Amino acid sequence: MKKILVTGGAGFIGSHTCLVLLQKGYEIFVIDSFINSSRKSLKNVLKIVDEEKKSSFSKKLKIFEGDIRNKELLEEIFNKSRSDGNGNGIEGVIHFAGLKAVEESVNNPFLYWESNIFGSINLFDVMHKNNCHTLVFSSSASIYGKNQTGKIDEYSQINPINPYGTTKMVIERLLEDLQRSFNLTWRIASLRYFNPIGAHYSGLIGESPIGIPNNIFPYITKVAFGALKEVRIFGDDWPTIDGTGVRDYIHVMDLAEGHIKTLEYLFDNKPNIINMNLGTGKGFSVLELINTFENVNNLKIPYVFNSRRSGDVASLVANNSLAKKLLNWEPNRSLRQMCKDGWKWQFKNPEGY
Ligand code: NAD
Ligand code: UDP
Repeated sequence: MKKILVTGGAGFIGSHTCLVLLQKGYEIFVIDSFINSSRKSLKNVLKIVDEEKKSSFSKKLKIFEGDIRNKELLEEIFNKSRSDGNGNGIEGVIHFAGLKAVEESVNNPFLYWESNIFGSINLFDVMHKNNCHTLVFSSSASIYGKNQTGKIDEYSQINPINPYGTTKMVIERLLEDLQRSFNLTWRIASLRYFNPIGAHYSGLIGESPIGIPNNIFPYITKVAFGALKEVRIFGDDWPTIDGTGVRDYIHVMDLAEGHIKTLEYLFDNKPNIINMNLGTGKGFSVLELINTFENVNNLKIPYVFNSRRSGDVASLVANNSLAKKLLNWEPNRSLRQMCKDGWKWQFKNPEGY
């Protein structure tokens, strides 16, 4: 089975994706600096898969602690992968590693450009030198311009409004340049995620933000647990169904499965570059999300209305027809499932990992 390098594999989306890769039989190499994650996530990934398959998968998951800005370490991982097992090296990369806090990126753009862009350049360079040209990159819906109505397709205007989003746009551009310059070699997919929430149903892995969460879902779970007093809803006068912001929430396991489908699509097809939305195509307002969370989990979530948050938009919902068509992929876990699984994770792990 193929060997895959997963950068940032200990993080929220990375850990769920590592789980699906192992379930599908891939051998994985993870590089993670643990700047925003814990080693325990990958231990728990192994726990889940060992239990499911009734055998030990620890040999299939190799973990390297370090930063993708460290070229020597990346080289070492590629070298190790060749001296291992069948002698084939890493054949594909899923690139999650990066900083992702929007506000922090506004306060410290140098850090974001340095870490996300320089780290990515390093990675792509080492891949190229090691003759590995299959890449799935974590992009984001935050690259889309804000003044758009209706569902967002891949041709919608690109105009990020913060340094975090800019780094994603720039990396996408760099990948387009690589594809153009070496057009018979690279197979690339930049996946533009909408709003991943929820957790694996076991409650063993999930999102573990450091400090007070910025995003709505982990904020709700902290309020449910009593760690925060109430949800502050940013705006009640948006032009939406009930005046609160609408987003396209996608279960992290559907997203993880989308990565494996994308990787397999790339392996099975000619060199190409694809920019692709991963979302459900369905929008829910903040109030709908809170009500669903309350109903599914039989809890009360206190909330108050605040003024709008700067940089927000009324609604951001994916047109996901490209992913459905190309990948034969269908996100099939409901908002109820997202709320149930997300709460189970938080309830079992009030302090995260
Ligand atoms: P996360 O912070 O949980 O995971 C990122 C992982 O990368 C962490 O384990 C972190 O320790 C590691 N990391 C960060 N910088 C690194 C570096 N320079 N070298 C090595 N490791 C490094 O975030 P996530 O939610 O799992 O997101 C994964 C990717 O998806 C990120 O690139 C993020 O920008 C993108 N994304 C996330 C969302 C979201 O809502 N979660 C939405 C759109 C895009
Ligand atoms: N939101 C909110 N209170 C919060 C965090 C977010 O009302 O504490 C709203 C926000 O205005 C948006 C939606 O919830 O309408 C999703 O916000 P999030 O930050 O989770 O995702 P993003 O805005 O990046 O899509």
